[in-house]
Amino acid sequence: MALLVQKYGGTSVGTTERIEAVAKKIKKFKDNGDDVVIVVSAMSGETNRLLSLSGSISDEPEGRELDVLLSTGEQVTIALLSMALNKISCPSKSYTGGQVSIRTDNAHTKARIVDIDVRKLREDLDAGLVVVVAGFQGVDAEKNITTLGRGGSDTTAVALAAVLEADECQIYTDVDGVYTTDPRVVDSARRMDEITFEEMIEMASLGSKVLQIRAVEFAGKYNVPLRVLSSFKDGSGTLITVDRGNEMEQVAVSGVAFNRDEAKLTIVGVPDIPGIASKILRPISDQNIEVDMIVQNVGLDKKTDFTFTVHRSDYKRAKSVLDEVCKKLGAEKAMGDSNIAKVSIVGVGMRSHAGVATKMFEVLSDEGINIQMISTSEIKISVVIDEKYVELAVRTLHSAFDLSAETA
Ligand code: ADP
Ligand code: ASP
Ligand code: MG
Repeated sequence: MALLVQKYGGTSVGTTERIEAVAKKIKKFKDNGDDVVIVVSAMSGETNRLLSLSGSISDEPEGRELDVLLSTGEQVTIALLSMALNKISCPSKSYTGGQVSIRTDNAHTKARIVDIDVRKLREDLDAGLVVVVAGFQGVDAEKNITTLGRGGSDTTAVALAAVLEADECQIYTDVDGVYTTDPRVVDSARRMDEITFEEMIEMASLGSKVLQIRAVEFAGKYNVPLRVLSSFKDGSGTLITVDRGNEMEQVAVSGVAFNRDEAKLTIVGVPDIPGIASKILRPISDQNIEVDMIVQNVGLDKKTDFTFTVHRSDYKRAKSVLDEVCKKLGAEKAMGDSNIAKVSIVGVGMRSHAGVATKMFEVLSDEGINIQMISTSEIKISVVIDEKYVELAVRTLHSAFDLSAETA
């Protein structure tokens, strides 16, 4: 008998039929003697629908009101799933984030969990109930509803598993595990039996949205056994682990991630003097715009070019700030490009393998793909390329680093 926290994503609860199928699946665990706490997302497409409703009223809705709106999606699914469970004689009770209570800070639309009171959940579990909790939401100290950022139900599940000291946190989704790259882009992508926390955090933050980054960080920090599995077919999925098994240490690259959510900005011909980077980036960060990659060239004529990337949704604002900076610093011009993509290779094995970057660059150049920016860490190499080549780049790298199912 185990204590399991299971999270079912949007597609898995996308219709009432699917909700009933999930209820049947949960009942099997319960009949097997396991205690189960369930976390659900909104039905697929619902959060986007709510966002577009708010967008039709206001370009900049207040975070507080947006969270009241967005949290309704999950409230629908918890009630429906509890009804479906009760119908098949699997007694169940649903809770919103506030009712549990999942307390967060007050950063609306990207709140962080600070505390969870699990007394009620424990009482219900002891009474033999299946507890169904709304993902993605909490309440701040003033009882305002908050949400945890897109994909945040994963984090709700991991946080509950951590405080309940669950035996495993199982993320049920529409793919049967974590693959070497998005299986919807590369047919020959291979499911991994295991991936390390370190690699999963990199993959998630570089664009593989199969798990929310924060959920993986949380699981790593609190030692929560975390597994990604399919809602629709049986299998053992992918376990996120602390260490790689020995035989896997030979692999330099374990996955390819990509992200179309960024945009690139360049300021050309700025004076190459101390303090220039902060003069360019300070006004950007003052606008609460996060910067990802940064490249500054060496200037021969006491002038330099400075390039950085931001989230695509911040592109227009960042460009107008940079236009101002350009005037102030007497730079030649400010330019921008929102049709870029970031493609990354990830692997803890890179630490012990030389030449991985060279191979990556060669492979891309053989396909005629120009690299616009590069950034590296111990276990990843990212490049910025023209967005139109992203799928070609991902497929080519995936096969060049022998990640395909048939070559593994
Ligand atoms: P859910 O609604 O269940 O949370 P998501 O859409 O958030 O599901 O995450 C699952 C999706 O993640 C898959 O459908 C897949 O297209 C995508 N994905 C991206 N990269 C990967 C990867 N490396 N392995 C598996 N799935 C991936
Ligand atoms: N419903 C929210 C979203 O679409 C949270 C989640 O699904 O995890 O982002
Ligand atoms: Mg998700």
